[in-house]
Amino acid sequence: MSAPGQHAAATDAGRKRRRNEDAYVVQPPVFAVADGMGGAQAGQLASRLAASAVEEAQGERAGAAGEERVAALVQDANRRVYERSSADESVSGMGTTMTAALVADDRVYVGHVGDSRAYRLRGGRLEQLTEDHSLVGELMRSGKLSPEEAETHPQRSVITRALGTDPDVDVDTFSVDAAPGDVFVLCSDGLTTMVDADTIRSLVEGNRSDLERAAKSLVDAANRAGGEDNITVVVFDIVDARPADESTQTLPAAAPALPAIDDEDTLSGLEHVPAIDDTMLLEAGDWGANGHQTATAPAPPAPAPERAPAPAVPRTRRGRRRVSRLALLLGSLAVVLAAAAAALWGLSRSYFVGATHDGHVAVYQGFPWNLTSGVHLYRARYVSPLLVAQLSQPERLRLFDHDLESYDDALRTVHGYEAQGVP
Ligand code: MG
Repeated sequence: MSAPGQHAAATDAGRKRRRNEDAYVVQPPVFAVADGMGGAQAGQLASRLAASAVEEAQGERAGAAGEERVAALVQDANRRVYERSSADESVSGMGTTMTAALVADDRVYVGHVGDSRAYRLRGGRLEQLTEDHSLVGELMRSGKLSPEEAETHPQRSVITRALGTDPDVDVDTFSVDAAPGDVFVLCSDGLTTMVDADTIRSLVEGNRSDLERAAKSLVDAANRAGGEDNITVVVFDIVDARPADESTQTLPAAAPALPAIDDEDTLSGLEHVPAIDDTMLLEAGDWGANGHQTATAPAPPAPAPERAPAPAVPRTRRGRRRVSRLALLLGSLAVVLAAAAAALWGLSRSYFVGATHDGHVAVYQGFPWNLTSGVHLYRARYVSPLLVAQLSQPERLRLFDHDLESYDDALRTVHGYEAQGVP
């Protein structure tokens, strides 16, 4: 008979956010993570409401069979967030992801909405159990984005399904086999957008005997990689309950799932957009003339050797080497400058339709790529009142294909959807 054994949880605001809008539940045999969204403190409220609904309801739902029970827990959480959001205008539109796991009958039952994830580590292999309900997930499943492109995609945090936005929510529910030795990981996207699956696997595997350390090392890895979002990790393993009943609960109960709301200043609803301005982009006016001239007339690498020492003096081997090294350096410099100029020229003339972090459709100038954490090759030029969630899935796939186009074309497309979609 399998049962949850060790468990641990860690959560951190990350390095870029003022508040932690994630919450988690560690109440064996129930575990969950929730990642809230919404302006001001609404995201924090949404994830905490969802987590406390699961904590309170899990006893009442104890009689139901596994899959039904976990689905009911997520629906309870949905209703709790939706009711509050409908009753209180200041938090209207808030929502949260939820990935919940219930260990019962030698299985782990999963209820899932949003882009938090559940993984199972078995025999050294890490398997992602959940499918992301995100714009990027949809684009990837439809073949419009490769997994590599998805990893650095600017809209990778925009989710297409959340708790709290409707009275009923479509919950993915399924179960997987749970055998002694398995380790399950639930986490928010603040981990998975910063740390790849192989690193998650090796950190959990490497700290297999100490899950507290495993959870902490995952959070640390996400922070080292930039910590752009709140990071939450819940880890539990499966033991054979018959002989190990007493020895399994070796760890103290996890810390309270819901950290206190801080009083810090809140960011605006568009808190994620300003990050885009924190980029390497120049003003559009600067890109035009300079960029264009340099791009069309890159300094050729050839002249440098011609300015080498006078041929009358016999060249020593060392002199020739120095000259050719200088030529190489100047040549490389010219190529780099020309490439940079061409890139800036391209950036100034390319637009694409994307979505802001809080789910608004937007027209971006630049290329839809992130160079490294915090360096984006785009900035929002127009943010529409239209929400991604107001579009149907086929509309989303059409609109967010990220084809580069002119500003007028991009704006016309977005206005077209606004005419149909904005109430
Ligand atoms: Mg997140």
